[in-house]
Amino acid sequence: MSTFAAYDFSNQKALIRVDFNVPIKEGKITDDTRIRAALPTINKVLQDGGSVILMSHWGRPIKDMEKKPELKKEDFSLSRIVDHLSQLLGRDVQFAPDCIGEEAVQKAATLQPGQVLLLENLRYYKEEEKGDAGFAEKLSQLGDVYVNDAFGTAHRAHASTAVIAQFFPGKKMFGLLMEAEVKAGEKVLHNSEKPFTAIIGGAKVSDKIVIIENLLEKATDIIIGGGMAYTFFKAQGGRIGNSLCEDDRLDMANALLAKAKDKGVNIHLPADSVIADKFAADASTDNADNKHIPDGWMGLDIGEKAIAAFSEVIKASKTILWNGPMGVFEMGKFQAGTRAIAEAVVAATAGGAYSLVGGGDSVAAVNKFGLADKVSYVSTGGGAMLEFFEGKELPGIAAISK
Ligand code: AMP
Repeated sequence: MSTFAAYDFSNQKALIRVDFNVPIKEGKITDDTRIRAALPTINKVLQDGGSVILMSHWGRPIKDMEKKPELKKEDFSLSRIVDHLSQLLGRDVQFAPDCIGEEAVQKAATLQPGQVLLLENLRYYKEEEKGDAGFAEKLSQLGDVYVNDAFGTAHRAHASTAVIAQFFPGKKMFGLLMEAEVKAGEKVLHNSEKPFTAIIGGAKVSDKIVIIENLLEKATDIIIGGGMAYTFFKAQGGRIGNSLCEDDRLDMANALLAKAKDKGVNIHLPADSVIADKFAADASTDNADNKHIPDGWMGLDIGEKAIAAFSEVIKASKTILWNGPMGVFEMGKFQAGTRAIAEAVVAATAGGAYSLVGGGDSVAAVNKFGLADKVSYVSTGGGAMLEFFEGKELPGIAAISK
């Protein structure tokens, strides 16, 4: 495996898998974070005197067009990104309206040092998600070197994210973003300074079981917040009113608590909640102990006692992993818990702890509170980071490192 930073790209055509699956509304890119995250990699190749061929997916064209016949191929086109990318790079970006085939081959072949070519959406071909080797080989013919900078899709064994690497022996590498993601993840999972606190929140326990089980082997403390906490309280005989609960997971919740006890891992459940009489921004609110939530009310955020206890644990930590919000932070009345936890993570980081925020909604939360640059690392890959912390081997990483 070559190192991207040490590689000299002069007169080389770098075929870079990026994640340009950015939100677009009415033709306008509403959040270009993922595009910006790939710029250092692209610019390094260009500065070396190489050329860049970019490939990405956008949405799920085949599946979505089957479901909604009114959708057209153009609704998924990466051509909508060309102008914005050109602006960000300060140079014109060329576009190939098909990611394989004659035109793509021609445009790639005539690409000059300093030039950039963006290929059309890889997922116009079902072969991409199927991990088809023939399709991967056709893509591979466009470049001299393969660079994977798409951490967001590293958990998929797709043609462009994993299968293609075999066609670049000795010439396959992570881009700068991917390398940073892998380093941050490995630092937390394999080299954590203790105490290591994992903060796990979000709606469903069932989505987070595997990550919690894997973290029982690594962390000293696990904080559980968000909607998923109520399943634990119900499992312990608490009254949780109308709070979120997965009734088919009660035994599992108790089993997780028992396993943590066995392993000497401290599980911290929130003592109290901000409760609401309906799931709405204008609901009436109150505070309740989590084992005594009145009928007709639901817990939508952690309460003040929980905030105080969780903050203390976080501030005493040397390594922090945060995945999932503490409450319905999208609504003003239920954001205080998630904000306070974000602030505690920031304070711990300022005091020398290493903190990684990974997973869509906690990333959205730190961005919303303007705290993203005050934690050690914010991951760009929701599903990929989750699977990484579940202890799974990610195909996009394995294809390069093996
Ligand atoms: P996840 O994608 O599983 O991380 O869940 C994130 C979602 O969980 C966010 O949209 C939150 O609004 C939601 N959430 C967090 N806490 C609660 C809660 N107590 N009740 C209902 N939804 C919640």
